[in-house]
Amino acid sequence: MMALLKINVLGKMSQNLKIILSNLAGDKQELFDEVVTADELRLDGPELGFEDPAVRVKGQAYITSDMLIIQYTLSIWPLFVCKICNERFPSPMEIDKTTHAEELSNIRDGIFDLSEPVREHILLELPRFSECNDGNCPDRVEVNKYIK
Ligand SMILES: [Zn+2]
Repeated sequence: MMALLKINVLGKMSQNLKIILSNLAGDKQELFDEVVTADELRLDGPELGFEDPAVRVKGQAYITSDMLIIQYTLSIWPLFVCKICNERFPSPMEIDKTTHAEELSNIRDGIFDLSEPVREHILLELPRFSECNDGNCPDRVEVNKYIK
């Protein structure tokens, strides 16, 4: 089932990606494996949809003397728009481990929301141009005729 989200929805930020500093006191590490929706991360646009609007964020958080360190991997299931035929096609992506470091003095109320770093990271990793069939769009032959 393809579930395309509406374009430019300003969803509420996710509750699930909030990291509570008091849970990490005393050299504790927190492991997390959360699923948020692309909608919650405001991750949709005219060039992009999500086959499965889930974004899986898996990792660990800990604090050093003055920093909050979060290491995480991402799994997403975007639908890209082929630049040749304009059809949407699915292209699941795994994004390798990333580290986010935040100064503790920047964190208000003892709660850090990882949603915004995750959102920015996904937007950076998404290809700017995409073509279906691993770059062999069936319409490419048609297009080539016109661009001699
Ligand atoms: Zn195509």
